[in-house]
Amino acid sequence: MLHTSTHFDIIIAGAGPAGSTAAFLLGKAGLNVLIIDKNKFPRKKLCGGLITDRTVKLLERVFGATVDTLNQHGIIEYESDHYEVYGKKRLITERSFEIPFRFIDREKYDNFLLQKALQAGASLIEGDGVKSIDISKSSVHTRGGWDVTADVIIGADGINSRVRRSFPVDLFGREDWTENVASAHEVIMSRDRLNRQIDHPALYFGHVNHGYAWIFPNRDTVTAGICGLKQHTGKSVLSIFREFLNGMDLSNAGDERINSYVLPYGCYLPNPAFRNLVIVGDAAGFADPLIGEGIYYAQRSAELAAQAVLTLREENKKFDETEHYYVPLIKQYLLTEFEYAGKIRKAIFRYFSAFDFFILGELMNFYGNKTIEAIHGIRSYKWMKKK
Ligand SMILES: Cc1cc2nc3c(=O)[nH]c(=O)nc-3n(C[C@H](O)[C@H](O)[C@H](O)COP(=O)(O)OP(=O)(O)OC[C@H]3O[C@@H](n4cnc5c(N)ncnc54)[C@H](O)[C@@H]3O)c2cc1C
Repeated sequence: MLHTSTHFDIIIAGAGPAGSTAAFLLGKAGLNVLIIDKNKFPRKKLCGGLITDRTVKLLERVFGATVDTLNQHGIIEYESDHYEVYGKKRLITERSFEIPFRFIDREKYDNFLLQKALQAGASLIEGDGVKSIDISKSSVHTRGGWDVTADVIIGADGINSRVRRSFPVDLFGREDWTENVASAHEVIMSRDRLNRQIDHPALYFGHVNHGYAWIFPNRDTVTAGICGLKQHTGKSVLSIFREFLNGMDLSNAGDERINSYVLPYGCYLPNPAFRNLVIVGDAAGFADPLIGEGIYYAQRSAELAAQAVLTLREENKKFDETEHYYVPLIKQYLLTEFEYAGKIRKAIFRYFSAFDFFILGELMNFYGNKTIEAIHGIRSYKWMKKK
């Protein structure tokens, strides 16, 4: 039974993939964990739902959940081992690969992970958001009046994180943050209203600068989306998206609503922790700066946060030192990859946009499966070395 003034080992703000992964690992290790989410689950999340092989491996390693498990729960909507990449006017490369891209239903995926965390012993307050944090007292206050304390507070509350905003003001480059958050728009269309069959995922460059558009197939629907950095785009990303849909002959797919959100696209924080306060996932800007893949990095950063807390406990250190255990892990496992992904992105948008991304297509053809292996996490973006 929860009391409004209870003390926990760990409080986690946000029950997305990041929050539930941290809660599962820490709950399983016997810690007293509380998750707080402003929404009630199952809840919707705007997302393309693409997961790569590195996510499949993480799910197996952390939760013991295989592709079969995900299928049994109806989480995987679609699989495709073929993909296409377009410039503005033409196809620049297409390929098949032995490991398919998988598309998940985020409502089911996030709820599945949350149930795993609850089964591991975590407690949940849902439908009530974190309002503020008092770092000096290590306490969390919710809109609904909860006032709870913890040894460690984990901010997994997404891109508009309250926890991140509770950090000392000058801890991060705030301009870097806002300049590298992409506008994202998405529409989900029923297959039976489309003029054409869409069987595999496609990425489209050249419509928006520092960003791209996508069309992803699902079981009964097709998702089209776009993301782009505002500062590099002369007009609104939304108006570009409408033009894209018209050009793709998708505007007649009905009056499905275009949903809009923001997405980390190079705004990753180099020091996402302060004493016993750590942030993970979108809250820390952890998405691949090249393709915007965020689900894996949300879960991987949460796994590293759990690892930091458990090592600290094992070594009998003070919780104030969590920062010194978590940040080096993030630098080692995430930031180097992000740095290289960011360099590739710069090259793509600065130099390869000429001739409608012809050179990008030629390079992808030259590297062959290596490019796709890097996206699946089998190779590093650093010189395409095998991991
Ligand atoms: C249009 C679009 C398409 C995308 N497509 C893909 C894709 O195909 N593949 C991919 O890998 N990534 C994709 N992403 C990125 C991916 O959705 C995110 O990176 C991922 O959801 C991050 O997980 P998270 O757990 O950090 O945050 P979230 O999933 O955002 O979860 C945060 C949770 O915190 C809760 N919360 C928020 N504020 C509070 C508060 N004050 N108090 C308590 N709880 C709070 C929210 O209710 C939510 O449940 C896409 C993003 C967008 C916008």
